[in-house]
Amino acid sequence: MSKALILEFSKKLISWHAVDGRHGLPWQGNRDPYAVWVSEIMLQQTQVATVLERYPRFMKRFPTVKKLAAADIDEVLAEWAGLGYYSRARNLHACAKQVMVDFSGQFPKDPVLLEQLKGIGRSTAGAIAAFAFHERAPILDANVKRILARIFAIEGTLQEKVFESRLWELAIELLPKKSEEMPIYTQALMDFGATWCSARKPVCLSGLQKCVFAKNCQANLSDQVLSFPKKVIKAKSPEFDCDMLLLRHGDSMLLQKRPSKAIWGGLWSLPESVWRAKSSGEHAKELKSAELFERILPEKAKALQKQCQKIQRGPQIKHVFTHRRLWMQIWEVHIKDPSNFANSDLRWISLQSLGAYGLPQPIKMLLQGLNLVRDDDLKN
Ligand code: SF4
Repeated sequence: MSKALILEFSKKLISWHAVDGRHGLPWQGNRDPYAVWVSEIMLQQTQVATVLERYPRFMKRFPTVKKLAAADIDEVLAEWAGLGYYSRARNLHACAKQVMVDFSGQFPKDPVLLEQLKGIGRSTAGAIAAFAFHERAPILDANVKRILARIFAIEGTLQEKVFESRLWELAIELLPKKSEEMPIYTQALMDFGATWCSARKPVCLSGLQKCVFAKNCQANLSDQVLSFPKKVIKAKSPEFDCDMLLLRHGDSMLLQKRPSKAIWGGLWSLPESVWRAKSSGEHAKELKSAELFERILPEKAKALQKQCQKIQRGPQIKHVFTHRRLWMQIWEVHIKDPSNFANSDLRWISLQSLGAYGLPQPIKMLLQGLNLVRDDDLKN
């Protein structure tokens, strides 16, 4: 491994950033660890363009860690709705409380302590420490892993522990010596991975730009850029079916709060049956209402049967999660008397006030598609 490149790596990257990096993003240049932390969590699985729209809104609603910790989790989830990966919102809320209780409202600057907070991994801890406190702490997200694996020809797959450990060691070796350079260096690494050394179209292959590392990059020199890091062949994600109840009375519908550890945890959604491994053809036959109610809300099945005015088969919608696909068959049911259905997890909510509740994105789209709500009804 070239010692010279290790020594000049950060300098080269910082010079690259001055010309070709991203500048002026709303969370850049901010030394408030709260603001840095929120932006880092939001950026984890969300595109920059979406974060640009949603980050200022979140910060306006929860401007301090104290305000976020004091908020109700439903408020936080409602604000997060549409950004996906809701465990991030639940962890943000839990972490804010932890900072208030365990650190008197002040984020610690030591990355090891930051890493002990809910939802903060080693790389995010490094980013917060570097941006907010100028600590010489490395980051190693998927983009950085790719950059380092390519430039230094590190063999291995992302799943391998040895590969990851080698990259962490390298990430530490490459840090700039001056701590005041940490924010710009960290930003440069993020930008370089997101824009120039991208997974599928790195600039050295597109021929549009000459890469600043072209002469040092081992993957480029050996013409094997797309082979680093090694890909793991993924198994096909499993598919599931479930039934969902769109239970209506007048302009209200019954929503159920999802368990916090489940998918869409803590959000309000349509009551649903247990997921079944997808079998073709099961939905070709109509279900008897008693069987349907028993599948979805067994404890209310008798009442539903008694109150049911009209039952109608709705659309079947598909949602793709990271590791599974779900086919949701919607059943629209109108009932005569809504009393005796609500409890702590089941609530009648008027269509106009849905915006105050965090709803999963596919359910919002379903309600819009059925013309039950307008965009405005879903805004909080
Ligand atoms: S030469 Fe290509 S693979 Fe190597 S760092 Fe530059 S963009 Fe990435």
